[in-house]
Amino acid sequence: MSARVLVVDDQPLNVKVLEAKLSSEYYEVISATDGASALAAMREEKPDIVLLDIMMPGMDGFEVCRQMKADPSLVHIPVIVITALSEARDRVRGLEAGADDFLTKPINENALFARLRSLLRIKLSLDELRLRDQTSQQLGLTEDGDAAANESKARILLIEDLPGDAKLVREVLSREHEVVHVTDTETALRTASIEPFDLIIISVELKDSDGLRLCSQLRSRDVTRNLPLLVLIAENATTKLAKALDLGVSDYLYKPIDSNELIARTRNQVRHKRYQDILRTTYHRSISLAVTDTLTGLYNRLYLTSHLGSLLERVVEEDKPLAIAMIDVDHFKDVNDRHGHAVGDEVLREIAHRLDQFSRATDLVARLGGEEFVIVMPETTVEAAQLVTARLRREVASAPFGTTPVEGGLAVTVSIGVAGMLGDDDTPESLLKRADDALYAAKRGGRNRVIATAQ
Ligand code: GH3
Ligand code: MG
Ligand code: MG
Repeated sequence: MSARVLVVDDQPLNVKVLEAKLSSEYYEVISATDGASALAAMREEKPDIVLLDIMMPGMDGFEVCRQMKADPSLVHIPVIVITALSEARDRVRGLEAGADDFLTKPINENALFARLRSLLRIKLSLDELRLRDQTSQQLGLTEDGDAAANESKARILLIEDLPGDAKLVREVLSREHEVVHVTDTETALRTASIEPFDLIIISVELKDSDGLRLCSQLRSRDVTRNLPLLVLIAENATTKLAKALDLGVSDYLYKPIDSNELIARTRNQVRHKRYQDILRTTYHRSISLAVTDTLTGLYNRLYLTSHLGSLLERVVEEDKPLAIAMIDVDHFKDVNDRHGHAVGDEVLREIAHRLDQFSRATDLVARLGGEEFVIVMPETTVEAAQLVTARLRREVASAPFGTTPVEGGLAVTVSIGVAGMLGDDDTPESLLKRADDALYAAKRGGRNRVIATAQ
């Protein structure tokens, strides 16, 4: 995952060391050596994440963090505080100032990269939701979605089999929230699939089962996919923590548990979840008839072109790639002619379903009209998009469409044209036009293939 990282440290040598580490992993690095210029750099250069030193002359890291969180244009940038302090008291202070995570000096590289990946993943999906929310607002479909996050009582599922730790967490969190406590992963999965929760707290060291495996199971299920997961982990379990973060865990807390830190981290995760819920509901409410294709339930052309406009602006500003794929069913007219329009409709619905299944959460799938579809892939190069859609093409061609009354299913193929963003003056129209040209070339080349435009 490539991203722009702002490193803030008053010691030029520390900046250099971090710069070298990050650049070797292909992160783009910018730097600042004091609080004021760090804030200026954030406004100018829109970093994806900030690595922030705490002890600096003048404005310290806590203050930088507080100012970021008070500025609506900076509040969404995740912050990792880098500090020589390792006391729980300082971590709580940082969390209260709005930091997302901590690293203690000297910095362990694995820990650093695991946290970067985890926070960037969260940011990417939130950015996408925020952008969709903006698009809906531009289309006049919603009221402002940025309502204050509701701070009411949260429901928390706790999976911990050590009686002492379980008792502590329950006592501390029950003052503000409702805590449901279970001791094994099977009950946890069952409970999480039928009851609503705002946060799941998991001890990674369970006697009879694997806490990390539970995290990955929760992440892969629809109902729990977007829930914040907070793991309880021993302070020296560095490799396990890195693995947990890579599995998509949202936050962690070291054992022995510090009550104040538990409260602060829980509060942050619950706030985050509420904010995400608000974005998601405004977004879902906005998928009204005006922007939805009634046959397939996908976005329609109006939404696509409008959303693509704001997306293009963002990727140009952030200097990131973006690719789109235009997909057209081959000889679709024959399907209608041979099996009737109703079967044709079923095929279109099944195609839509496969495209939707196939795409990532940050991709946007739309029906352009007739038997033509588009997938917009943010932060994806043309080469990557070509590989991905080649797999999509194979999957459509190799599995007959079984929803029709046709014996043995119906063989359907698609042709795909892929195009990528070229620069500042690209518009949704020019980009779609290039993808359409590539699609036309795929048709001419014999159909059932992917063609990408280099230009
Ligand atoms: P090609 O491989 O060149 O794409 O050939 P094709 O037959 O797929 O393309 P053509 O554009 O000639 O035909 C598209 C057909 O799709 C014609 C139209 O009647 C049909 N169609 C468009 N919208 C719908 C729909 O909503 N439902 C059904 N069943 N058919 C549709
Ligand atoms: Mg066609
Ligand atoms: Mg067509």
